[in-house]
Amino acid sequence: MNGYDIIAIDGPAGAGKSTISKELARRLGYLYLDTGAMYRAVAWAARHNGVDVGEEKALLGLCNKLRLEFQGNHILVNGKDVSSLIRTPEIDRLSSAVSRVAVVRKYLTGIQRELGRQGNIVAEGRDMGTVVFPQATHKIFLTASPEERARRRKRQLEDQGEKVKYEEVLAQIEVRDRADSTRSIAPLRAAPDCIIIDSSNLTIEEVLKKIGNFIQIKK
Ligand code: C5P
Repeated sequence: MNGYDIIAIDGPAGAGKSTISKELARRLGYLYLDTGAMYRAVAWAARHNGVDVGEEKALLGLCNKLRLEFQGNHILVNGKDVSSLIRTPEIDRLSSAVSRVAVVRKYLTGIQRELGRQGNIVAEGRDMGTVVFPQATHKIFLTASPEERARRRKRQLEDQGEKVKYEEVLAQIEVRDRADSTRSIAPLRAAPDCIIIDSSNLTIEEVLKKIGNFIQIKK
């Protein structure tokens, strides 16, 4: 490790990025940057302020007034801790919608690069290795079958006390995958210089081991 490491972890919803990125950051003593939480926070703020997620001008006005802060693994919007409010099916959908809007991407990309300047971070999202940190030291694309991702997401929602049907979760995952992969700006895709890890049949420890091997080989 050279003191300015950036580890970019991208992939679709439910591939295990958060669990893996958080644990990797903890083991390495790096900062963990959850960029999905930032899109979710903007979506929450839009809803809270009655801003239409399709209205670019109104979203620009909203972003100009937003103060996003991380406190540990919590995210604050203008001082309010929204960490648990942004993990709902409604915000899943709204965050995917705001993430298509150029002004929102520009605003959040700026903040993400600023946070990345200190180096030694694990940055998780959809466009970390392709757009935000093309110079990242290591790029990982973490994926899993839609069925396995839906099973994991269902479990996660149930742990939060939400009752959901597997078929509905799977359908929502497929809609979000399509929207994230086909949008014109910063679509979800694997960077040419990444390693692809399919976590469908792997434990968390096995995924971390693969990443550990990759990081050492490239060092
Ligand atoms: O990763 P998470 O599911 O929390 O992300 C929520 C939404 O935010 C994604 O569906 C995607 O549309 C958007 N996103 C993005 N770029 C990122 C991170 C998340 O477009 N770097």
